[in-house]
Amino acid sequence: MSFTLAIVGRPNVGKSTLFNRLVGKRLALVDDRPGVTRDLREGAARLFDLRFSVLDTAGLEMATDDSLPGRMRKLTERAVDAADVCLFVVDARAGLTPADSEFAEILRKRARHVILAANKAEGRAGDAGMIDAYGLGLGEPVRLSAEHGEGLDELRDRLAPLA
Ligand code: GDP
Ligand code: MG
Repeated sequence: MSFTLAIVGRPNVGKSTLFNRLVGKRLALVDDRPGVTRDLREGAARLFDLRFSVLDTAGLEMATDDSLPGRMRKLTERAVDAADVCLFVVDARAGLTPADSEFAEILRKRARHVILAANKAEGRAGDAGMIDAYGLGLGEPVRLSAEHGEGLDELRDRLAPLA
């Protein structure tokens, strides 16, 4: 495996849906309930010609104490530290939340390399979310629809220099 990608972002933005698409198996649980991925999952990803290792994370929860969200957050921080690159996923339909801005700050300080992705961006509904995502100051977002498999070619081009 040439590099390790960690998929991070708040719960319910579509991290596990993307993980499953990259790994090509139903390894990660996709659920409408926020925070359903409670631990780290690692898989062998294939994206066109690229092969890499991918980590699905629990979603960066805000709590830092010993509660379940606190433990999930610690696991996610471990993934950020272990990864060569973090794919920071935001929800282009729901819009940004204060948690997204907070995590952008954490990733800026902690991650080696960050690629921003605006997911659920299929159709016109994603347009506003793309503009919002620019405002995070993490560069140009990759416009993605993990569910519909859109934007994967652009994601490949952004990851290729790391391979
Ligand atoms: P996670 O909590 O970040 O891992 O999010 P999940 O992958 O579990 O997805 C949460 C919800 O968002 C599910 O209902 C998915 O079907 C939905 N979802 C994921 N990707 C997309 C997408 O590209 N477009 C739309 N419209 N919904 C999506
Ligand atoms: Mg998940």
